[in-house]
Amino acid sequence: MNRRFNRPLGWQLGLGFTLLAGICAIATGVYLYQVRQHLGSNYTALVADVIRPQLHTVLLRSALEDFHAHPQDSELIERFDNLLWRIPQHIEGVEFGLSKTPLAPAAYEAALNRLERAREHLPELRQALGEIAAGAPPDDLIQQGFAIENDLAQAYSRLSYLLHAEAAKQRIVMERLAIGIALLILVILILVGCLMLVLMRLHHQHKKVLRLSLMDELTGLGNRRYMLNFTDLLFEQSQRSGLPLSMALIDLDHFKRVNDDFGHPAGDQVLKVVADALLGEVRKVDVVARLGGEEFCVLMPETDTQGALDVTERIRQRVASLSHQAFGVPVAVTVSLGLATVVADDATFDQLYSRADQALYQAKLQGRNRVAVDCPHGSCNA
Ligand code: GH3
Ligand code: MG
Ligand code: MG
Repeated sequence: MNRRFNRPLGWQLGLGFTLLAGICAIATGVYLYQVRQHLGSNYTALVADVIRPQLHTVLLRSALEDFHAHPQDSELIERFDNLLWRIPQHIEGVEFGLSKTPLAPAAYEAALNRLERAREHLPELRQALGEIAAGAPPDDLIQQGFAIENDLAQAYSRLSYLLHAEAAKQRIVMERLAIGIALLILVILILVGCLMLVLMRLHHQHKKVLRLSLMDELTGLGNRRYMLNFTDLLFEQSQRSGLPLSMALIDLDHFKRVNDDFGHPAGDQVLKVVADALLGEVRKVDVVARLGGEEFCVLMPETDTQGALDVTERIRQRVASLSHQAFGVPVAVTVSLGLATVVADDATFDQLYSRADQALYQAKLQGRNRVAVDCPHGSCNA
């Protein structure tokens, strides 16, 4: 046996994009886990913290060079003293900033050692500065000062390089993350689109199944279920308005012979033509259905017995006048009709149906090709 599994395209697309969204989400998660150390730190601010003392290191060097020429210049001494006070503050700031980054301490340990060494020598330098102010020669101060300046310059230069490199890595991580998240959002949007597509198809198919479940495939009329869907509503309307509701049951006469003489397909064609004829004689508000076999039904709201008689008589005549050409076979087709009406009483649909069926039976008994009316009080005439 050859079995075919035919899944709709929307389903396959949905599955594909769900997988893609899942893979994107996992990849983004794994990447985030790997690069989490680059995300939380504000390297740009720390770079600024390192660049500022680098400038002061340059000022320190120029001040030391000036001491050669003007060792007793009081303004220079004051400027130098100022610098010496600021250097430890900068070192502390940088140390604090570094301790807040997720960088491995080994990466900046050498630079911190140099800063520490410079800080330890600062008191000696300050002492030497006091001696110069008292008239001592500046040689010692200049020598120590250059040693400190050298340590500071090298440490800050190393830290500046390190932090720039980390900031650059962080930028790359951010760019990749932005691309990853944009991709994820795109895939999710496509996924939502696919889901909508699938839902629309399901809705469409649901409507189709519903239509098929209420429709008679051969004639295109409603089926018994279709008619029953209307009965409650029509009965309620009739009760509320006090207006009559009529029902006609229609059965083809000697239809078996048509099948026997001309075959089942010809019989089907006759049923279709009769169904069209029925539709041609009723109003839009009337409910027409094929109840099964060669039996049809017309529910006529707001129609009394006389009005329903007019309609059923028209139907009878129209079917009887249908030509051979219409049927495609040389056959004369007639119908018998049973009619019943309810007027705002306690009748149920089953009772109305049963009365119409009784009337139909009478029409058959009386010789067929006629309308018979069920009159509960004996006041109706067909
Ligand atoms: P009566 O005048 O007493 O109603 O006689 P009848 O021959 O019409 O009634 P009967 O119930 O004996 O036969 C109905 C026939 O309708 C029998 C069945 O083969 C035929 N029939 C039922 N459904 C279909 C259908 O869908 N297509 C065709 N071609 N024939 C059908
Ligand atoms: Mg029948
Ligand atoms: Mg029949």
